[in-house]
Amino acid sequence: MEVPFWNKEIETLDRPMLEKLQLQRLREAISWAFRTPFYQKRLPQAGITGPDDIKSLPDLQRIPFTEKDDLRRSFPKGLLAVEMKEVIRIHSSSGTTGIPTVIYFARDDLDRWTDLLARCIVATGASAGDVFQNMMTYGMFTGGLGLHYGAERVGMTVIPISGGKTKRQIQTMKDFQTTVLHVTPSYLLHIQSKLGEDGVNLADLSLRRAFIGAEPHSENTRRKIEELLGIDAFNSYGLSELNGPGVAFECVCKKDMHLWEDAYIVEIIDPISGQAVENGQEGEVVLTNLVRRATPILRYRTRDLAFLHPEPCECGRTHRRLSRILGRTDDMLIINGVNVFPSQIEEKIMKIPEVATNYQIYVDKKGALDRLTVKVEIYPKLFLGEVSKLEALRGRIREELRSSIVITPNVELHEPGSLPISEGKAKRVVDERPKD
Ligand code: AMP
Ligand code: ZN
Repeated sequence: MEVPFWNKEIETLDRPMLEKLQLQRLREAISWAFRTPFYQKRLPQAGITGPDDIKSLPDLQRIPFTEKDDLRRSFPKGLLAVEMKEVIRIHSSSGTTGIPTVIYFARDDLDRWTDLLARCIVATGASAGDVFQNMMTYGMFTGGLGLHYGAERVGMTVIPISGGKTKRQIQTMKDFQTTVLHVTPSYLLHIQSKLGEDGVNLADLSLRRAFIGAEPHSENTRRKIEELLGIDAFNSYGLSELNGPGVAFECVCKKDMHLWEDAYIVEIIDPISGQAVENGQEGEVVLTNLVRRATPILRYRTRDLAFLHPEPCECGRTHRRLSRILGRTDDMLIINGVNVFPSQIEEKIMKIPEVATNYQIYVDKKGALDRLTVKVEIYPKLFLGEVSKLEALRGRIREELRSSIVITPNVELHEPGSLPISEGKAKRVVDERPKD
């Protein structure tokens, strides 16, 4: 297998050199952090007075975690380390609480971020000459612009179409013979379900690859996408606090995502104790940005659950691989006392061939009890089939779910296109239990 590289030297740097570089960059990151009001206060409280207090990589653990709420409380300029006139881009997100967080980028920050994305793109085998249709939302969300500049740097032909307008997306894929997509997995499955409606079929297209990310999805969802579209799909992970996409990305081996350790330090911790887990164990991903000057962020608790592969990848890259995101510390549902992760549900239903491309997890209360309903779309010809067969399918789905999540959910079968879809990140869980 041919393994393409963007920057072979750095991507295959041996571990001792990589760790040496990390330490040097960590100390620089701490100097930058000291230019922000937030860390000026936070670091001395933990007994850190400057980069000289960090003598080895394990000293990182002396630095306190940074949490989403710290970012919110620091809005708008508590984490700004440069003069405003040096900032050439702002990205911001307003979470569910509506209190925004902001990340500033100086020119070099954008340059380095763009380079990481070029690295990700090339690692999948995509290259100059590919036609890249970027269906991720443009705007303050980092997904659109991040990959946009990375793809331009690689020399791809970029179509900055953004999300939504499914018919236009399909027509555009045909008109320009798009070869590479960047899209959320849920929206890609929706687009696939609309192929053929206006006379454009898969055979009229030239798709070869998709970069899928921004939302949780299972290995079975990836397989489904690959089989339905006849393409290779690569998992892409990132979050706005750490630039956006480009933190970790799959290479041609498609065995989980290389996390670029010259730019980030990754730790996996027990979310309750805050201590590092054993090598290879699952826990919360904590990230330190080593190379962003305008908004330095140290030991950020992502709330994403994953593990690191202890063994190296066959491609020869030395940067460790992060597993697919297995859930979030804050997305666990408690149904009548039983812990259920949405990812367990998706994993099971997406491997059932009769299940089409969309689903929803619905929770409400009946009397004193919680009630879990899993609504799945199935293919139209099945939907119009015999009632007894539908009942048998419903029973099978219910049984598959019960074997994984322990409780027995209600299962509803829906016609394709009838459940709500999202053109950006999917909202899979609707929880209508009264909040007390
Ligand atoms: P945002 O800051 O809006 O870009 O959202 C970042 C969050 O999206 C992450 O913390 C993850 O929870 C989720 N996310 C991004 N990429 C992936 C991915 N490939 N798989 C699962 N979740 C993802
Ligand atoms: Zn690899």
